[in-house]
Amino acid sequence: MGVFGFPGRAFGVVRLLCRLRLLGGAVMIALPQVAHKSNKKLCAGSFAVSFGESGGRYCDDECRHKCGSCYFMRLQTARPNVRSSMQRVEDLGPVATIRAAIATMPRRFSWMRWSVSAGVPMREDFATVESWREFRREFRRANQQAIESGADVHLPTESARKARILRRMLSGLGVVVRRSVQSARVSDLLRARDHRAFTVYASGHKVTAGPVGKLQKRSNIAAAHDLARQVRAAGSSCVVCPFSSSGRLCGDCRACASDRVDVVLFPGS
Ligand code: SF4
Ligand code: SF4
Repeated sequence: MGVFGFPGRAFGVVRLLCRLRLLGGAVMIALPQVAHKSNKKLCAGSFAVSFGESGGRYCDDECRHKCGSCYFMRLQTARPNVRSSMQRVEDLGPVATIRAAIATMPRRFSWMRWSVSAGVPMREDFATVESWREFRREFRRANQQAIESGADVHLPTESARKARILRRMLSGLGVVVRRSVQSARVSDLLRARDHRAFTVYASGHKVTAGPVGKLQKRSNIAAAHDLARQVRAAGSSCVVCPFSSSGRLCGDCRACASDRVDVVLFPGS
């Protein structure tokens, strides 16, 4: 879900350390560190975990950002070490990744961010029903643990189908699953009533056009604020992601995780 709120710049690299450690005389196998390294986009105290490469097997084909506007796909192209980090997580597999996330999660932290790169795996990504069931159980456990550790949880998803499945999977935990509206029609955004996100481009700029320049970005931010007024007039609460314009970090602003924010608008970047 690379499009959410982190336009176009470098991102921390995941390191997988599978090494032996001597502890109190006993040899123990250290767990893989699957969290993204701290970086300039997330606030201090964040814990961010992804399942694989952007644009790859865990990104639903419904995601329109696969066509060129996904910032994390662009980042992977510009920085091969980021791509290989994501490939390593993908190779580890979703169940092992989520278990490592649970085991390495800080005891107290403020901001849990899933899917900086790629979406959450679904049934078709698992060889057996048992492994899918195991993943669902562990993913729920990870979210529960994050909440009990004091974190607000940001879980973006790229398709309506995934949103339905994730909402069922996490029901009762209070985690907001924020669905990216894939239609380019504003009427589809206005009509819906679930927690959603939408990427805004000023007229003349298309989602498939790739990275935007400074002037275009400014126009996209203005267009997002115009659209926010329409969204509010249609009866939904709305926040324009402040990341690209205000210098606030993700996790300082927690709009995406808030139950009270119906719509988050992302100026195209
Ligand atoms: S689902 Fe994949 S292609 Fe779509 S925005 Fe997220 S990372 Fe990019
Ligand atoms: S709206 Fe706030 S929480 Fe959501 S991506 Fe932007 S900065 Fe992060």
